[in-house]
Amino acid sequence: MTEEKLHPTPTNLPDQPAADSETVQRVPHPTNVLLNQIGRSTLLLPALPYRAADLSPWISAETVALHYEKHHRTYLKKVRLLIKTGPFDSDRSLEEIVLHSAHDGPSDLFNNAAQAWNHNFYWKSLSPKENAPAPFMASMINARFGSLDALKFAFISECSSLFGSGWGWLVLANGKLEIEMTANADTPFVRERIPLLAVDVWEHAYYLDYQNRRDEYLKNVIAKLLDWQFASDRLQQALRGIKARARG
Ligand code: MN
Repeated sequence: MTEEKLHPTPTNLPDQPAADSETVQRVPHPTNVLLNQIGRSTLLLPALPYRAADLSPWISAETVALHYEKHHRTYLKKVRLLIKTGPFDSDRSLEEIVLHSAHDGPSDLFNNAAQAWNHNFYWKSLSPKENAPAPFMASMINARFGSLDALKFAFISECSSLFGSGWGWLVLANGKLEIEMTANADTPFVRERIPLLAVDVWEHAYYLDYQNRRDEYLKNVIAKLLDWQFASDRLQQALRGIKARARG
């Protein structure tokens, strides 16, 4: 189906520039501090930070290709389609669209925008090379969970107990590291909880490789693939944001 068929343009009206529409202007900008903590993304599919085969044997090239080329790409495509008829001007970042649609809807825009963002973040949360948190993050992990292994164990356990589809997260919430689970497309940053790592707990993330053995996928991804260097960078950025808020 073409985009025109989904959203027919009235032919009896003159084309209007988006900026003239009242609906475009009724959406206020969210706080820049939060956006500085989580970043700003375009509505285009970002490049994978590695080759599709690089996550094997824990996640196969086939799974990565299908997940990235079909699922992830489709969420972004739907967002671009939906904002043509919604209250957003075209230069809004994906993060702004997620924040606004979380509160004001429409729900299909939120679901697709949040899923797009979650997938952007998921690929960045994984690394083909096992690595360790930066020392300042390791200290915070030790203080909160006892050790990195204990955090991984708790993370696997929480993800394993999720009923249905959703996401597992390591977040910074009120200045503390926390594990959080979200259902379906939901994403922590709409509640100002700053994502540091994401694990996709939807069936399409593992079914080709693991069939029904979700626990095995979770164990491998969390033990072998999480990018703790990325998480450390995100944590540093989030802590800077907290300082900026305290000053501002
Ligand atoms: Mn997915």
